[in-house]
Amino acid sequence: MRSPLTFSFELFPPRTPEAQAKLPATVAQLAALRPDYFSVTHGAGGSGQDGTYETLLTVVEHTGVEVVPHLTCVGSTRANIAAQLQRYREAGVKRIVALRGDLPATAMSAAAPGEFHYASELVTFIRDKHRDAFQIEVAAYPEMHPQANRPGDDFENFRRKVEAGADSALTQLFYNADAYFDFMERCATAGITIPIVPGIMPITGYANTIRFCSGCGADLPRWVRLRLEELEHDKPALLDFGLGVVARLCETLLKNGAPGLHFYTINQAAPSLRLWKSLGLSVPA
Ligand SMILES: Cc1cc2nc3c(=O)[nH]c(=O)nc-3n(C[C@H](O)[C@H](O)[C@H](O)COP(=O)(O)OP(=O)(O)OC[C@H]3O[C@@H](n4cnc5c(N)ncnc54)[C@H](O)[C@@H]3O)c2cc1C
Repeated sequence: MRSPLTFSFELFPPRTPEAQAKLPATVAQLAALRPDYFSVTHGAGGSGQDGTYETLLTVVEHTGVEVVPHLTCVGSTRANIAAQLQRYREAGVKRIVALRGDLPATAMSAAAPGEFHYASELVTFIRDKHRDAFQIEVAAYPEMHPQANRPGDDFENFRRKVEAGADSALTQLFYNADAYFDFMERCATAGITIPIVPGIMPITGYANTIRFCSGCGADLPRWVRLRLEELEHDKPALLDFGLGVVARLCETLLKNGAPGLHFYTINQAAPSLRLWKSLGLSVPA
């Protein structure tokens, strides 16, 4: 029998007092859909770690839904990571997204500071110090991480994270369902059976979609790019088109065995609510 699907919404710590003030209403709208959890991103190199913790507390206070902090390790010391894990454990956190993170390009060299270089080292550290106290999510890249030399090398890295103790994975955003299915086939061949939940970025604009895709190496199909460019100044039509593309992607993924969906919300409720509705996902009374 197929396991129940997992649905989650990703948030980032608000950067301004206005954005902070809006967050409770946003999470309340999303919480009404009863997701399995909210996750909260974390800046690399220790930046924003308090923002992640404070956002976590805000979401718990306003929703009662499980909140899952992201934890980035590059640029951090073992003592700093240990302290963050201890604080999360004391706050009742049961699941963590364990990541390397990205430092600014100038710092991201062989001489990058810190005692961790890859997410697999963070997974090993968490398992060593906390055994099974946390469920550990890691990142997966169906279209290859942009800094990897070859898909095979990147896949070996993913396998290292699983062997270090990851329980499940969330993917980078993508708009080609076949890239996900190919990744899942490679996992099956390698004997990797952990759930790998697709990361879904709603399309809500032309410039931001280009920026997100080029930032993480995701392929935006040419026909989608051309249509978004054409509709750039007609917001309602762009939303109809962009969210339609993403809804069809989600349908294809779920129909073909994806174990759930992780929505990159960019702290906006409306696009995810609209996708949720068009996918016919349940909305509790
Ligand atoms: C679901 C999700 C959530 C994210 N949340 C955040 C966030 O909150 N904050 C943030 O800053 N960023 C976040 N990111 C972005 C992420 O931090 C970047 O993509 C980062 O560049 C890689 O992180 P990672 O954990 O995948 O790294 P890793 O798995 O360590 O991989 C990084 C690179 O190193 C290579 N590599 C790994 N191990 C080795 C090795 N032993 N030898 C040689 N090469 C190796 C990999 O192939 C890859 O190219 C998120 C990404 C995803 C998919």
